[in-house]
Amino acid sequence: MNFSDSEIVASILTGEGFEASNDLLDADIILVNTCSIREHAEDRVRKRLHYFRSLKKKNPGLTIGLLGCMAERTKTALMEEEQLLDLVAGPDSYRHLPGLLAKVDSGQKAIDTILSADETYADINPVRLDTNGVSAFISIMRGCENFCSYCVVPYARGQERSRDPLSVIRESKDIFLQGYREVTLLGQNVNSYHWKDGKEAVNFPLLLERIAVLDRRLRVRFATSHPKDLSPELIRTIAAYPNICRAIHLPVQSGSNLVLDKMNRKYTREEYLEKIKAIRSQIPDCAISTDIITGFCDETEEDHKQTLELMKEVAFDYAFMFKYSERPQTIAADHYNDNVPANVKERRLREIIDLQHELSSASNHRDLGETFEVLIEGTSKRSDKQYFGRNSQNKVLVFPITRQKPGEYVNVKVKRATSATLIGEAI
Ligand code: SF4
Repeated sequence: MNFSDSEIVASILTGEGFEASNDLLDADIILVNTCSIREHAEDRVRKRLHYFRSLKKKNPGLTIGLLGCMAERTKTALMEEEQLLDLVAGPDSYRHLPGLLAKVDSGQKAIDTILSADETYADINPVRLDTNGVSAFISIMRGCENFCSYCVVPYARGQERSRDPLSVIRESKDIFLQGYREVTLLGQNVNSYHWKDGKEAVNFPLLLERIAVLDRRLRVRFATSHPKDLSPELIRTIAAYPNICRAIHLPVQSGSNLVLDKMNRKYTREEYLEKIKAIRSQIPDCAISTDIITGFCDETEEDHKQTLELMKEVAFDYAFMFKYSERPQTIAADHYNDNVPANVKERRLREIIDLQHELSSASNHRDLGETFEVLIEGTSKRSDKQYFGRNSQNKVLVFPITRQKPGEYVNVKVKRATSATLIGEAI
């Protein structure tokens, strides 16, 4: 989401005559787009700010601004603490950046962290940053109202709002005509996408379908799905269109009903497993990935064991795994005890990571001898004689360079596998 937001910011500022620079030392303005989801993310921002302080010493005219969730969460506090900040703008304030920068130019500090009920930046055509020219992100909604008890997003990004489907379809068409061949539709919970215009209502499966039919050479991905909102209609839609990728990211967070309830996830372990069963029966080649938080408040060894068991039962292809870190202003911070000792969190996380390593490795080894349609993304970082790309399941494949170019499809047979990569040959 932040990457996509940075492209929106670049578009707004480009329209005002600014230019994006690839060289930090060459920039007159540095805007740091921040994440508050974990303490670690905020710590990294603070470290970056210390580095920028040294740049500002050499160049006192340098403007430094803080954008995104950390700006929203801390408002003036961080500005007072970090005197080097000239500007603070929350995720719904990007249209005001030109005005805020003008204020900084006139010698004042500028701040705008007002959240909006309807801002979706639908009319803004993002400037693609750091792009490979093959895959692009499109935000289809903003905000979240699920209030998972550990999560700061509803406070930092405000209420949920969906973007006009016509603007999403137009942007998808545009990027396809520019040569992109993969689009990832983004939202905190894409499954609850909903748009109503007069008599017409568009939900997420319908939006997905409308983009999938634009051209079968355009792959469509999406992130992230909340398990409680993953509908049979969505599974049917994915199954019906081969260019909707066979990869679903479905964050489970915990395998224990007690923990899920405390997290306010609004589904049980059994309901989650039912959804997995439905996906597997209708889209047998679908990869399933997840997020797991270990060491949440009151989590016992038995809860942890249930998480490990669920991981084995689903056999996730991939997972993002974290130990719980308390975020200020959340339900958990206000009402629960962050009472799992740090060393226990560490050990449980290690067990989860080790298990996932085995599961990912087994998943990749099952692909040995299989042939996949791969969208070439570019030259491998390790060797300029090799391409890398992804299959529909979002697995990375590396293979000797062919006559095809990045952005084209090639069939690749898997010859070797590690837990992270498939190595093959074009056929
Ligand atoms: S669904 Fe839950 S975890 Fe995801 S952004 Fe919303 S509140 Fe946070």
